Formats: sequence, structure tokens, C-alpha cells
Amino acid sequence: MNDPRVIPVVVVGARGRMGKTLLRTIMESDDLSVAAAVDRSGGPGTGLDAGQLAGLTDTGIRVTDQLEPRRGQVVVDFSLPEATNVNLERCVAAGAPLVLGTTGISEETETLIEEASEHIPIVAAANYSVGVTLLIQLSAIAAKALGPGWDAEVFELHHRHKRDAPSGTALRIGQAVASATSRDFADVVVPHRTGTNRPRRDDDIGVISARGGDSIGEHTLMLLGDEERLELTHRAGNRAIFARGALRAARWTFGREPGLYDMVDVLGLDDATIREDMVPSAND
Ligand code: NAD
Repeated sequence: MNDPRVIPVVVVGARGRMGKTLLRTIMESDDLSVAAAVDRSGGPGTGLDAGQLAGLTDTGIRVTDQLEPRRGQVVVDFSLPEATNVNLERCVAAGAPLVLGTTGISEETETLIEEASEHIPIVAAANYSVGVTLLIQLSAIAAKALGPGWDAEVFELHHRHKRDAPSGTALRIGQAVASATSRDFADVVVPHRTGTNRPRRDDDIGVISARGGDSIGEHTLMLLGDEERLELTHRAGNRAIFARGALRAARWTFGREPGLYDMVDVLGLDDATIREDMVPSAND
């Protein structure tokens, strides 16, 4: 009989770097179990046992190419953006909460995520690390507290296999800076300077991507003033940090009202801010 204290988790993207880490973290936990392991059809590892993928003992659950969640299960999806639309439909049909880690999602899919969140709880975060969640909040506080006259540039480095650029986290940091300083990120983001052929505008938020080696993810926000510079950096040392955060989110969604949430909600962080009357003006 199923233990009601154990939450069954469906892992999508099971054969991937994150999928394997999720499977291992679930299998090593006391309160979660692998309900299903899903990946696209074909390719190496098709039909393998989920436990083998995790480098642990067999579970009796083989990797399938069909996402068929059931009510009472939580879906954790770290796959590719092409899979997100169908996965949303399946989760809504089953009434299963979704923890979405896939990055590089299109605007069209983001609209579908919002619509789906009217029916099921969805946690969507470009980065499930607790440290990065704080980095995003600290970026907003710093940009707001420093005020005009400080240029914001975001740097990110990832392993050579990463497809999307800039990283979802770098964009999130840029968005946090933009909204804390009343700018529309889409209007001010400069993803690379090649061909811009102009000096930096005060409002620009530069986002610089580098790819190489096995770096799991490094992000730095530089706030560049005259004669001083503030750098906020996070370095990920192991994919397990994202898996632990995503599974914390999975536990948190269980029994939650439908809605669209992020890691700030999961961690219960209040909207950290500074008093409006203390925000510096151009004269400060
Ligand atoms: P990966 O390429 O190692 O794994 C992706 C897996 O998804 C592969 O096994 C692939 O076969 C599978 N897949 C592709 N299409 C699929 C489909 N239609 N249905 C099911 N599975 C499918 O990539 P990764 O490094 O594990 O990262 C996966 C995603 O998670 C990427 O978008 C990455 O940017 C993101 N990511 C997010 C966080 C976060 O904290 N939010 C952290 C790390 C990675």
C-alpha cells in the first residue's frame, strides 16, 4: 500500500543531467518517491530503469516517453522548451501540480503557463537554488538603493552543452534590476554589444554570456559607479542544489491552490525592499 506521507514525483527529462540528479535526490529522500520517469522516445537509455539512471538500485520503473500524471502526483519537468506545451496540457488534465525548471521558454508558452496556473499550482523558476533566489532579491535591493549613476551589467558562464543564451537566471537578474528601478527590461536589455556602435546608454542593462567547460552556472551582477563597483556573484558547485530546490518546491505545491508561483514564494521570502523616501535621486 502507498504510504500517504510519501509524495509521488514524476520526473520529466529523466535521462538528462538534471533528470538523473532529480531521480537520485528523490530516491535518497524519506518523503518522496519516483512515480514515473519520462523522456523523449529513442536515444540512449530508452527503457532503462529509473534507478539505473540515478546510479542506484532498480526501482521497477522504466523510462517512458508518455507523460501520464495522476491526481496526487507532482510533475517536475527539467527537459526542453519543445516539451512544455504538451506537458502543461497533461498536468492540467490530471490536476497534477507542476514544478517547471526548463529554461528558454517562449513568450507564447509563458502565456500558456499563466492560463494553466488558473487550474493547477505551477512553480516556475529559471533557477531553483536558494542562493540564486537571494541573489535576484539582493540585485533588486542594490540597484534600487544605489539609484541613478550606477550601470548594471550581468555576466553568466555555463557548461559547453547549454543551448539557450542568455541564461534564464541572467535574464531574471536583469528583470529584477529593471523593475526595481522602474525600467521596462525589454526596452533596456542589451544581450551583446556587437554592432550596437554607440556608447553605453544610462538605462542599458547588459547581459553577457560565456559557454565552456563543465561550469554548472555562474552569475554576477556588476553595478558600476564612478570610483566604486559592487559585484554580487553566485557560483553553483553541483546540480544537486537545483534538484533540492525543485523538490522543496514539489513538496510545497502539494495541496496548494492553483496559481503561478516562484522560489520566492516557496522560500517564504518577503518582498525585501527599501523605503521609497530613501531611494536616491540623480543629485545624491
Ligand atoms: P539535458 O539536455 O541534459 O536534458 C534534457 C533532457 O530532456 C534530455 O534527456 C532529453 O532527451 C529530454 N527531452 C527532450 N525532449 C523531451 C520531451 N519532448 N519530453 C521529455 N523529455 C524530453 O539538459 P539539462 O542540463 O538536464 O537541463 C534541462 C533543462 O533544465 C534546460 O532547459 C536547462 O536550462 C534547465 N535547467 C534549469 C535549472 C533551474 O534551476 N531552473 C537548473 C539546471 C538546468
